[in-house]
Amino acid sequence: MKKIIYLITAALIFLGGCDSKPKKYSRTVYAMDTSMTISIWGDNSEAALSAAVKIINDYDFMFDKENKDSPLYALNRSNGTTTKVPDEIAEQISYARNVYTMSAGALNIALEPIIKAWGFDGSEYRIPSDDEIENILPMTDFSKILQDDNYITMPSTMSISLGATAKGYTAEKICSELQDMGVKSGLIDLGGNIRAIGSKPDGSDWCIAVANPFGSEFSAFVYLSDKSAVTSGDYQRYFERDGIKYHHILDPVTGYPAKSGLASVTIICQDAAYADCLSTALFVMGEDEARKLHAMVGGFEAIFISQDATVTYTDGLQGKIEIPKQ
Ligand code: AMP
Ligand code: MG
Repeated sequence: MKKIIYLITAALIFLGGCDSKPKKYSRTVYAMDTSMTISIWGDNSEAALSAAVKIINDYDFMFDKENKDSPLYALNRSNGTTTKVPDEIAEQISYARNVYTMSAGALNIALEPIIKAWGFDGSEYRIPSDDEIENILPMTDFSKILQDDNYITMPSTMSISLGATAKGYTAEKICSELQDMGVKSGLIDLGGNIRAIGSKPDGSDWCIAVANPFGSEFSAFVYLSDKSAVTSGDYQRYFERDGIKYHHILDPVTGYPAKSGLASVTIICQDAAYADCLSTALFVMGEDEARKLHAMVGGFEAIFISQDATVTYTDGLQGKIEIPKQ
């Protein structure tokens, strides 16, 4: 059987800023299994870039569930005993719990055992049997993970993966740090998870291109300042067996790759950590349920690309989005 592996890390790219006067400083590093680029415009920028890279490296270690020295590795092997985790993990667990609750479980960071069964943890891709999935699903009940500030207690069969949340969380932390250092204009691109600091140096909005899940052209261009744009898509990581595509965003109810009719969801809102949680959740929920959630909680906009390549978006993006003719 032929295995086709695709790993497309950059779901979004940023455009613009090239014709502006202030000098651009930029650095690219590879972390969290993806390429990350920080670009900033203005003075004191080398120090700011170094601060950003330090955050990336620190978090790359901290959130690495395979690194035997990492706090996430320790938590996942805590065997039911209460374990103290760093603020950065505690915060992500509580953010994820909020979105878990509001999405009726669609975002579930306790899916790690099922992610592993499919090989989406970086091991060999495989299709687990129905029995295997049925046995694993009871181990993925997020409500059994108890949290008292930085102290986490979970059953010994459970483990956590921060794959759906860590890049957005990291982007938001970098943004705060750089703003504290006086950066007024920049783009943080963590494998397609974009966080814009302020506007372009000339004061206009950044133009963010949304990848076409079915080809190399872009499906949309969205204009924003001081906001995030985060995409979850079935084309970003998948394998094929016997002509069937199995992608990496799993439905916590079935334990199978989510079949919601969507090929991608892009979330636009200020906080990149929230955007990352929401993009995964809304992909699983599908457009109808996602729109209900949008109407209920607000605070974000979304671009939906369906399996038939139709592009739709929430009303708040009117005047801020261009859809090129396909
Ligand atoms: P994202 O690209 O942010 O949508 O995150 C997808 C990654 O999160 C996958 O590669 C898995 O590691 C993990 N994951 C898959 N499905 C879910 C889910 N329903 N809830 C939380 N994490 C998930
Ligand atoms: Mg996500």
